Amino acid sequence: MDAIWWKTAAEEPVLDVAEFAPCDVAIVGGGYTGLSTALHCAQAGLSAHVLEAEAVGFGGSGRNVGLVNAGLWLPPSKLVKALGDRGEAFLAEFSDGPARVFDLIERHQIRCEARREGTIHAAHAASGMTDLRGRFQEWQRRGAPVRLLDAGEAAELTGTRAFAGGLLDARAGTVNPMGYARGLARVARAQGAKVSTGVRVTGLRRDGGGWLVQTAQGAVQARAVVLAANAYSDALWPGLARCWSDIHFMQIATEPLGDRAAHILPGGQGLWDTGMIMRSLRRDAEGRVILGTMGRDLGRVSRAWAARLLRRWFPELGEVGIERVWHGCIAMTPDHLPRILELDAGVYAPIGYNGRGITTGTLFGAALARVLAGEDPATLPLPLTRPEPVRFKPVQQRFHDLAFALKQLT
Ligand SMILES: Cc1cc2nc3c(=O)[nH]c(=O)nc-3n(C[C@H](O)[C@H](O)[C@H](O)COP(=O)(O)OP(=O)(O)OC[C@H]3O[C@@H](n4cnc5c(N)ncnc54)[C@H](O)[C@@H]3O)c2cc1C
Repeated sequence: MDAIWWKTAAEEPVLDVAEFAPCDVAIVGGGYTGLSTALHCAQAGLSAHVLEAEAVGFGGSGRNVGLVNAGLWLPPSKLVKALGDRGEAFLAEFSDGPARVFDLIERHQIRCEARREGTIHAAHAASGMTDLRGRFQEWQRRGAPVRLLDAGEAAELTGTRAFAGGLLDARAGTVNPMGYARGLARVARAQGAKVSTGVRVTGLRRDGGGWLVQTAQGAVQARAVVLAANAYSDALWPGLARCWSDIHFMQIATEPLGDRAAHILPGGQGLWDTGMIMRSLRRDAEGRVILGTMGRDLGRVSRAWAARLLRRWFPELGEVGIERVWHGCIAMTPDHLPRILELDAGVYAPIGYNGRGITTGTLFGAALARVLAGEDPATLPLPLTRPEPVRFKPVQQRFHDLAFALKQLT
């Protein structure tokens, strides 16, 4: 079940197992969090080794929509309220998040189809405009370059009359998500970090003042460990995966449509909507239309859902071939806030990005690297916290899966 990005990313995959020597920081997981931590550790003069069970970008980082968003899932005022004293500083940092990501891409010439034309949060119905108006006013008060779109402007920018309006955020943009992940791996290695793929970490054991990181291929001694497996965590740290709900998000990519689809998001923005069961829309560099919705890849059901939505939104396209269908797992926390967990002395686990991982993984990785290099943990975007299990996770999970599957039938 490969995402289309696994085929189209211009950056090369890493197919390597590096030498297992002692290091300052062992990193479990080769997504944005792990790779950004490794890159910034290497830049700070620390030796870092990323151990990835499958391939770079195998988790959310190689499967997502590629929306490089500013801020988090929550509107600014709710975020500030939830974070108290740290709220405004956090918001300012995450408001600049896309700029940090795009600067990194530019500086290291990461080939990931980066486009900085903004993103559109589209109103799935008139009711969605109430939320968008609130977000618009809050961001505008803070001086962010956002614009509220009426239904006519939304139709012009999206190529469909399906939306009641939208919020255009000029800070944001899009990337080929796997291109960005592989690019981070290339740059981290070039700066001296090690990246090993096909190496699953099977155990962590205290070893003097540090940790022994065990794998089937051998063990690595490390002063500190960053568990960067997020929604793709296995049983390595018991109980960790109970700290979020697994929300699946499914996408389809059409065949390349060339000029036939040039009127769809002609400005190059990516889009997600205000529906309870959120949908996404974008095009890739080769002219495919990529549609998404919460839920799993249900085979023929998902293909039929996509064909119906394409007919509804873009009837002028006529018959369209679907090249690929895939899904991925998002770690959603009950309060929609991410966490940086301290699991034990020297073991950190950033988790719960709630579908905002391109900026969050990049920024959290950089911030953790600074702390690992000796900075005060008070400088992290969030305080270090302990794991807290989500209540009734299995029940929630079943409810979500059922609701999302039913929605694909409509
Ligand atoms: C379908 C989908 C759409 C999304 N859309 C967006 C979007 O448009 N914009 C956005 O910003 N975010 C989006 N997200 C969220 C974003 O993709 C994630 O938040 C982000 O990729 C998380 O990165 P990460 O490095 O923390 O974890 P991941 O990228 O999930 O990486 C974790 C890695 O850990 C590895 N691993 C697990 N256990 C072990 C082990 N024991 N040993 C070694 N390795 C291990 C896994 O193989 C995996 O590669 C989306 C997510 C999904 C799934």
